[in-house]
Amino acid sequence: MTAGEDVEQKDRIESSDKASPKWGGSRQLLRRLRDIMATGEGAQERLNRIVAIIAHEMNAAVCSIYIRRAGDVLELFATEGLKLDAVHRTRLRMGEGIVGDIAAYARPFALADAQKHPNFAYRPETGEELFHSLLGVPILRGGRVMGVLVIQNKEPCNYSDEQVELMETIGMVVAELIAAGGVVRRREQAPMDGLALKPLRIDGVQLSSGLAMGRAVLHRPHVPIGKMVAEDEGKEIDRLEAALSAMHSKLDHMVKTVDDDGDGGDHVDILKTYRMIAEDRGWIKRIREAITSGLTAEAAVVRVQNETRARMAKVQDVYLRERLLDLEDVAYRLLQHLTESNGNGTATQEDLPDEMIVIARNMGPAELLDYDRERLKGVVLEEGSSTAHVAIVARALDIPVIGRVSRILSRVEPFDRIIVDGNNATCFVRPGEEFRRVFQTSMELHAQQRAAYARDKDLPAVTTDGVEIGVHMNAGLLIDLPHLHETGAAGIGLYRTEVPFMVRSDYPGVDTQADIYGKVYDQADDKPVIFRTLDIGGDKVLPYFQDMAEENPAMGWRAIRVALDRPAMLRQQLRAMILAADGRPLNVMFPMIADTSEFLKARDALNKELARARARNQVVPSEMRVGIMFEVPSLAFQLPSLLQHVDFVSIGSNDLLQFFFASDRGNPRLDKRYDAMSPGFLTLIKHIADQCHAANVTVSVCGEIAGNPLCAMALIGVGIRNLSMSPWSVGPVRSTVRSIQMASLADYMASQLNSPDHSLRSQLLAYAKDHKVIL
Ligand code: PEP
Ligand code: MG
Repeated sequence: MTAGEDVEQKDRIESSDKASPKWGGSRQLLRRLRDIMATGEGAQERLNRIVAIIAHEMNAAVCSIYIRRAGDVLELFATEGLKLDAVHRTRLRMGEGIVGDIAAYARPFALADAQKHPNFAYRPETGEELFHSLLGVPILRGGRVMGVLVIQNKEPCNYSDEQVELMETIGMVVAELIAAGGVVRRREQAPMDGLALKPLRIDGVQLSSGLAMGRAVLHRPHVPIGKMVAEDEGKEIDRLEAALSAMHSKLDHMVKTVDDDGDGGDHVDILKTYRMIAEDRGWIKRIREAITSGLTAEAAVVRVQNETRARMAKVQDVYLRERLLDLEDVAYRLLQHLTESNGNGTATQEDLPDEMIVIARNMGPAELLDYDRERLKGVVLEEGSSTAHVAIVARALDIPVIGRVSRILSRVEPFDRIIVDGNNATCFVRPGEEFRRVFQTSMELHAQQRAAYARDKDLPAVTTDGVEIGVHMNAGLLIDLPHLHETGAAGIGLYRTEVPFMVRSDYPGVDTQADIYGKVYDQADDKPVIFRTLDIGGDKVLPYFQDMAEENPAMGWRAIRVALDRPAMLRQQLRAMILAADGRPLNVMFPMIADTSEFLKARDALNKELARARARNQVVPSEMRVGIMFEVPSLAFQLPSLLQHVDFVSIGSNDLLQFFFASDRGNPRLDKRYDAMSPGFLTLIKHIADQCHAANVTVSVCGEIAGNPLCAMALIGVGIRNLSMSPWSVGPVRSTVRSIQMASLADYMASQLNSPDHSLRSQLLAYAKDHKVIL
């Protein structure tokens, strides 16, 4: 089944023995609506005629249109069948009654007996006690709910899928009528929330750090659709085919251009995946069907796009959501091709501001790459998660991104000034002049600091009393690699091999993997790289591993657990690493090891691959170092046996912290509840560090805390000598290291670990201030 074919079950409550009401078919109805739209009558008259026609053609006793007004109220604007006195009197809040529910969730409702539904809100002025069955759909335009269209019948009856779809299509036509003006004041329709002209501060979650200021560009602005109803079905199918083929060739061209550039391995994979989605058969079939029901090609695309959005709101599965998101994006591209062919194109890149802050519900990585890299300064999303592809690519490109910013699309107008403070996960809409000046100053300071870090990149990362600290960088995409040299990082302390797997559409074979790892080696030059084997599962989903839905994925079948159960996959990856090393030293790290025996099994797979390479007279790595990620607390009690076998240990504090405190790392409600700077957690780190030093095993920390100067100071104070972090943290942490006096810090940390406090942050800040540690 393709993403486009996987049709969501509509919200319906059926009554088993009730037939669906007879109705006249879609084409005739759409034609009659088109004729009404073309008349010069007033908007109210047209609405009145529309409800009468729909009721007649769909054999319904009632047809009503509710329109959304300022203050999120739905007002009955026209009805055929309810008492006319109720028009402009009956008003429901969003979420109130069945009509309010349809609007609030932007989903259709088909009920054989609406009065039995718990949300039924009886309004005596309408006289609707006579009617039992109800079919209601949201009136949608550009993803925004503009009202609700309802039909009702006296007898309980089941509405068919075709009727639901036709009602949704009619909803789109009515949306155009509302948007054309004269129904409600324009001000009420504008996607605003009453705070339109006031500056707004809205918090979200950090997907990529950094600061940016610019003008809003609404990603995928509404594409105006001139004609909704087709005059000639054959012609519309031809237009669709032409637009599909133009879109496919444009995507082919994009893939080829990036491929020819040579350095964009990951970009090519991302675009190729995307190119495949653009051929989704289920999706194209649904568009064709919508044309056959009487719509123009554009309207058919919008119709299917609306369905995709409605499904996206409900789908929990991360993989399916990403695919639906891509489909939505492809639909938008197709729409642009269709409207361009009409001479009705949308804004081109040239029309966009010089400093762009892109505002989107969500976006795919290919779309991000579509924007001019020079002008794109920041991104604000209504959705998004830190493992979404767009966040991964944005981090690599150093573009600040804030996600889960509530209703941002409805609060911003094109060209509004926007400030993105990715460091604090906050965005400011229409900030005042004074605030902009202050922010500009802090951006300049940041830029100066960055320049200073770049200047100091060759200074040794050594404390004032001569202890050397290895400051390494984490990476996952090839576009991360140039930062290794720019920042002066000592090497790649964590190369997340799953990232290139995540951005492609099919499982990469040994040669492809070897090619990727070989490029990493080449770009790292002679700096060391630690390759972590696949850490999939949890929130890291591979398109070709769809049978992984789990109740509790973070603690589920992931990382080394998958690898040990799928030994061929692990061996292929290790084979690719040996090939890529091509006689150079190879560092391999296994993720999520929970006991020594798991490590030994993984190590055995590596030994077998080395033996295989030798048996075939292939070059083997000049040196092998094999280690583990310390992410599961159980390992703390296995260190004596484990440390006899490993060359290094890297503490994955992101996972370790969540398992230590039993606190989901992705749950925003628990975000600030437990602190890595707690005496308990730091005591665990000290225990691991002490044991590793005693066994002469290198120990490092590669989770997010390693890149925070204050936390880095504390980690160094409890014995950590190697840190690996995002590229942009390397400079700040190196400068912290150079301001630390190790002996004094170690004593201080030892004196604090028995503290009963929830966190040691305030003590650490005070220490840094007193001892002039640069944070
Ligand atoms: C960690 O858990 O700290 C870690 C570095 O691994 P990841 O964030 O990739 O799970
Ligand atoms: Mg981890």
